[in-house]
Amino acid sequence: MRLPIRKYGDPILRAKGKRIETVDDEIRALAGDMLETMHAANGIGLAAQQVGHAMQLTVLDVTQVEDRPSTMTLNGEPIADLATAMPLVLINPTLRLSEEIELGSEGCLSFPEITADIERASSLEMEAETLDGDKLRIEASGLLARALQHEVDHLNGILFIDRMSSAAKASHGSRLKRLQKETAKM
Ligand code: ZN
Repeated sequence: MRLPIRKYGDPILRAKGKRIETVDDEIRALAGDMLETMHAANGIGLAAQQVGHAMQLTVLDVTQVEDRPSTMTLNGEPIADLATAMPLVLINPTLRLSEEIELGSEGCLSFPEITADIERASSLEMEAETLDGDKLRIEASGLLARALQHEVDHLNGILFIDRMSSAAKASHGSRLKRLQKETAKM
């Protein structure tokens, strides 16, 4: 089932996600709905907050974008074809970021029509749990590293506008105000 995507101005986007202790049928169903919603919206990542649930759950699929490469290892094994490892459903993810920073373009399904260059760590290590309760360790660079940082930010109530340069944020100021007003009316 496709879920409505919460837009900027909705207070749930600022809520820190609760740690998931037990994966039950409800969480499994939510993860399935989030994957369907993300794919239907042509997104590469979606966090639980974006569909109204403040919990540590996110889904990703970077294979929709062909011109921005990623590297990935899964539990220490290099993944040559990312399509074999996608989509990802991640529970309680934590990140360890590289010191090296790179600038890259980002958008967000909660901010239609807004993109900006955002500084992110160029690579990272992530630990998370799967729907089956297994531990997962991923090393990533490129678009996947960027998407993971964007989604884990969502799980902590942090939005990509918080990481925009003040000039970029100012240039989107009127669109952001309009978006907040539209959301408040719903
Ligand atoms: Zn987002």
